[in-house]
Amino acid sequence: MRKKHPNIRKNDKVIVRTGKEVGKIGTVLKVDVEKGRVIVEKVNMIKRHSRPSAKTAQGGIIEKEAPMHISNVMIVCNKCAEPTRIGKRKLEDGTMVRVCKKCGEPMDEK
Ligand SMILES: [Zn+2]
Repeated sequence: MRKKHPNIRKNDKVIVRTGKEVGKIGTVLKVDVEKGRVIVEKVNMIKRHSRPSAKTAQGGIIEKEAPMHISNVMIVCNKCAEPTRIGKRKLEDGTMVRVCKKCGEPMDEK
């Protein structure tokens, strides 16, 4: 059996649906299928204190994206630019592609 696959993938554009950053749009940097979490560029930033190292000569505070639950974001269609749900469509050659339920366009370039 295949693991249930989240419809959101790396490099997708998503919009935040809940929380203090609702409405923010960012690119998915990482999807954690096991935990059902995503990391979205510049969203849900947390501050971390870092020790001096080779990279950061003086140490200090660095900002970093914290993972958020996948249900807190919704994919944004890159064709119609609307937050949307994802459908599936089978192509003539049998491959499945994700399609936007609003405009019906494929979400995956190929
Ligand atoms: Zn669309």
